[in-house]
Amino acid sequence: MWKASPTARVIGLSAVMVAVGTALTVYSLRWGAPHAPFHVAWYWFIPAFMLCDAFVFHLEIRDEAHSFSPTELPLVVGFFFAAPWAVILGRMIGEITFLGLRRRQSPVKLAFNLSMFLPETALALIIFRGLEGVDPPNPLDPAGWGVVLLAILAADLLSGLAVSNAIRWHGGSPRLTQVVMAGGFTAVVNVSLALMAAIVLWVSPWGMLIFGLVAIVSALAYRGYANLTRRYASLQLLYDFTKVVGASMRGEAVMDEVLSEARNLLRASVAEIVLVDRATGRPGLRQVNSDGEESGSTVVEPEDTEVDPVWSEVVNGGQPLVIPRTSREPDHVAFRERLGIRDAIVAPLRSENSVIGTIMVANRLGEVSTFDEPDLRLFATLANHASVAFENGRLVEQLRREAYERQHEALHDPLTSLPNRTLFIQRVGEMTRLAGTEPTAAVMLMDLDRFKEVNDTLGHHNGDLLLREVAARLIAALGPRDTVARLGGDEFAVLLPDLSSAEEADAAAERIISALHRPFVVDELSLEVGASIGIALVPEHGDDATTLLQRADVAMYEAKTSKRGRALYSFERDNYSPRRLALAGELRHAIENGDVLVYHQPKARLADGLIVGTEALVRWRHPVQGFLPPDEFIPVAEHTGLISILTVHVLRSALAQCARWREMGHDLGVAVNLAVRSLLDADLPEVVTDLLRELNVPAGHLTLELTESGIMADPVRTISVLERFAEIGVQLSVDDFGTGYSSLAYLQRLPVNEVKVDQSFVYRMATDPNDAMIVQSIIELGHNLALSVAAEGVENQVSWDRLRAMSCDVAQGYHLSRPAPADEVTRWLDARARALAGATG
Ligand code: C2E
Ligand code: CA
Ligand code: CA
Repeated sequence: MWKASPTARVIGLSAVMVAVGTALTVYSLRWGAPHAPFHVAWYWFIPAFMLCDAFVFHLEIRDEAHSFSPTELPLVVGFFFAAPWAVILGRMIGEITFLGLRRRQSPVKLAFNLSMFLPETALALIIFRGLEGVDPPNPLDPAGWGVVLLAILAADLLSGLAVSNAIRWHGGSPRLTQVVMAGGFTAVVNVSLALMAAIVLWVSPWGMLIFGLVAIVSALAYRGYANLTRRYASLQLLYDFTKVVGASMRGEAVMDEVLSEARNLLRASVAEIVLVDRATGRPGLRQVNSDGEESGSTVVEPEDTEVDPVWSEVVNGGQPLVIPRTSREPDHVAFRERLGIRDAIVAPLRSENSVIGTIMVANRLGEVSTFDEPDLRLFATLANHASVAFENGRLVEQLRREAYERQHEALHDPLTSLPNRTLFIQRVGEMTRLAGTEPTAAVMLMDLDRFKEVNDTLGHHNGDLLLREVAARLIAALGPRDTVARLGGDEFAVLLPDLSSAEEADAAAERIISALHRPFVVDELSLEVGASIGIALVPEHGDDATTLLQRADVAMYEAKTSKRGRALYSFERDNYSPRRLALAGELRHAIENGDVLVYHQPKARLADGLIVGTEALVRWRHPVQGFLPPDEFIPVAEHTGLISILTVHVLRSALAQCARWREMGHDLGVAVNLAVRSLLDADLPEVVTDLLRELNVPAGHLTLELTESGIMADPVRTISVLERFAEIGVQLSVDDFGTGYSSLAYLQRLPVNEVKVDQSFVYRMATDPNDAMIVQSIIELGHNLALSVAAEGVENQVSWDRLRAMSCDVAQGYHLSRPAPADEVTRWLDARARALAGATG
């Protein structure tokens, strides 16, 4: 459907009204001047209507301002004292002069108003003259009063309909009932006044002087009263404003609050704050609040235009400025045009001594009124309140930001920006409080396998880059609800809060491992960095952060020796279970008490059965629990820092025994097992050197057994310790060979002398061809690398013979002898030596 533009419609309506008005005017020509004591000439109506237009009354109904002028007065006087054409002519000339020249209404608006006044005036006159029952019309006769009121109301209805249509076409929504009610009310008041004037005039024209005086005094009194109520209302609003703005805290919210209250207070349709950019002195942030469709605030970056001179004047002068709609100053006109506004007040916002921005209200509501001096003073006061509130808001904001930054710093790792240990523990704590009995979450602990290598060889800077990249990959591999934290060094922790099974945690760990599997490019080198992950489940493995982290740590150690790179915590394997912790407490005492004994198990050369040495195996004679195997307490010792004491105890006792046997004529070597932790102990080579010297044992008579997985846990650090031992002349043996995943290449780089085929292969080689194959290849491999190969767990003659056939060098196992106290082994050695002597002799 075709729709005319609002302006076109208004022009159309004006044309219709002009036509109707002209017709009505022509019709009204049938009446001449009524019979009256005297007649009022047409030109008197010009100033009369102009005066009435100047005496506009503002009525505020709800939040809308309505203006009414008492034009009924000259009209009603015209009813009784002039010919209709005289009233119409006088009014039209008066309105053109006033609205056109004084109000400077736009042509369309002026045309609309004039075209409305024409039929309105003519209609009122025709109704009055057409319906007058009494001839001649007489204001003294009450019968005519009703006719006067009817004529005026009909005219008001006509203009009311025209105006509300025009407003509606322009997108407004006039409340017709309110307009009519307010119009009706003023009409009644005005008609009464007009009738009084007509009566006075009828009786004596001079009476008008008195009437005019009373009317002017009343009008002034009314204006004064209206101003008073307005000022009172303004004060009330200002008070509310101060309260509201004082209560809101955040900077942007303060700004918005200030703006909408300012609009309210100054009856403006637009308000905006423009902040001075501290760096450039130009307009910075701009926040606008208007009652248009998108009510609320928008924060916009300033466009790169020239700074408005009005704005600069307020900022630099520090004084508020009013720009009424009538102002012709070029700067004001430009300002209004730039912002597309009719009128405005701009006031500075101050902070201590400087102006931090401006606040502006624009577009005073209502047709005729504009901002004036009292508004300026009110707005300046408001701006001062706003400055304080706003400054407070900024202060609070700043404090908040600083507090946030401090807190962030305290809870995050500066290198990777990940949460740190404190925050991680906090998060785990929060989560465990919510945990039920089902697996609900998991705590994972991870460290990198070859981080130290990178750090040492490529420098800290590259180490840092690597850690950052690891952090990024961890985040990418996990979900948004999971927490990834860096606990320090190359140690990371993960909290998986949404979990329904242990398998899910395992899958997450797997994801991490494969994410880290892709080589890292650092310093143009492609590096492979493995990781070991220990997993503890909530609530199965603990319900507090400390326990969970400790158990994840236990599992992580487990993971280091596992091919999968990850391990779930298990109570059975945990050295931290209460029984084991109790043991740890007793171990030191037991060593001092002599309850920790060193047993020996002989090793024989397979080729000729010659005993070449023994392996020292530790036993704890516990007063309550009886003999404890090393598997029960070595890991405990490792995790409680007692391992070095224990290792030194075993070394001393084994070397002392070795020296004793040598004195007796048994020139045997002695092998001592080293724990993973001892391998990382940089002081140990020193200790060993001292012991060898003290107990007078040649270095070559001592063999240190290190497990394959122990070496691989941290090869870089281990290798330097191993090199130190090699320098001393101590023999090195790789224990449990075949269970780990060390590469051939790695073995080659180590200064080792012997590999010990893991006993699991040896037990089964008699029955399982596959295991026999493995043993065979290990022997060959060892020989290729010029290593001596030992087999442990040789339990029977079959295995013994096979190993001998495979050219294995040394055998150890129950078939030869069980581990036994040194004295027993001495007797066994003596007996064997005698038997050998007997056999040969
Ligand atoms: P390992 O170094 O592999 O020691 C060999 C284990 O095999 C010993 O168990 C020994 O008693 C057992 N064994 C020897 N021959 C046979 C056989 O023919 N059949 C069977 N079934 N087993 C045999 P043990 O004494 O219980 O030691 C267990 C582990 O504890 C050792 O494994 C070693 O890793 C560790 N260990 C022992 N003493 C020490 C020590 O003083 N310090 C450290 N760090 N670890 C030690
Ligand atoms: Ca061993
Ligand atoms: Ca072994």
